[in-house]
Amino acid sequence: MYFIHLAYNQPLNILSLIVRNICVLSIKMAISYKKIEFFQNKLLSWFKDNGRAFPWRMPKMTAYQVIISEILLQRTRAETVAKFLPYFLKKYPNWKKIGTATENELELLLKPLGLQSQRSKRLFKLSQAMKERKGRFPKKRSEIEKIPMMGQYITNAYELFILGKKLPLLDVNMARLLERFFGPRKLSDIRYDPYLQNLAHRVVNTHNPKEINWAILDYSAIVCKAKTPLCDDCILSLKCSSNK
Ligand code: SF4
Repeated sequence: MYFIHLAYNQPLNILSLIVRNICVLSIKMAISYKKIEFFQNKLLSWFKDNGRAFPWRMPKMTAYQVIISEILLQRTRAETVAKFLPYFLKKYPNWKKIGTATENELELLLKPLGLQSQRSKRLFKLSQAMKERKGRFPKKRSEIEKIPMMGQYITNAYELFILGKKLPLLDVNMARLLERFFGPRKLSDIRYDPYLQNLAHRVVNTHNPKEINWAILDYSAIVCKAKTPLCDDCILSLKCSSNK
C-alpha cells in the first residue's frame, strides 16, 4: 500500500530507482570479484614502489588541509599545486585564518596558479560558511553537501581521509582507467553514471581505501594516460578489456 502511494506520488523517482537497481545488479553480475581483486592487488603493489609523494598525502592531515588541497587540485596539475600548497597553508593555516581573508585577497593569491576567479569566489563563500560554523562540519553527508564547494568529490575526500570511509575519488582520470580496464561506461556525466559509481565503490573497498585511491590516480597519470596509454608496459594488460 505504501509502495503504491509512493509510486502514485513520485512515479519518476520510483522508475529511476528501479532502472538504477537493475543497472547496479547487472554490473555486479557482469564484473567478477576476481577481476576486481586482480586490479586492486596489482595497483596496490605497484603503488608501493611508484606512488607519488605529495604534501596532501602526509599522515595526520586536518579536514581543512584536505579540503583546501582538493579545491586547489581541481583542473590544476598536481605538481603545480604541490609547490603552491605549503605557501598557501602557511598564509592561511586554518578555517579561522582563512575566514579573515577578503575575496580580493584570495583571488590575488590564486591568480598565479592559473585558476579561474570563479574558484576564489567559491573558496571565499566556503571560508565564510565555515567561519559561521566555527570550523565544524555537520555529521550528515546531506548537510555537508549543502556547504559551498562541498560537492560529491570533495565530500568523498573529506570522508575518506578524515573519517576513514571506503569512498572513491572518482574524477575523469579514475573514470578513464576503470572504463578501459573493466569495460565502457554508459553515461558521460560520471557523477550520475550508476555503472561507474558502483564500480568505483567496489574497487576502493579494500583494507586501505586511501592507498587504492592514490594508486588509481597515479597509475592513470603515469601509465594509463589519456592520449598515450603505455599498454606494452602495463601490469594490468593481461585482463584489460581495452587491450585485446
Ligand atoms: S592495458 Fe592499456 S588501456 Fe589497459 S589499463 Fe593498461 S595502459 Fe590502460
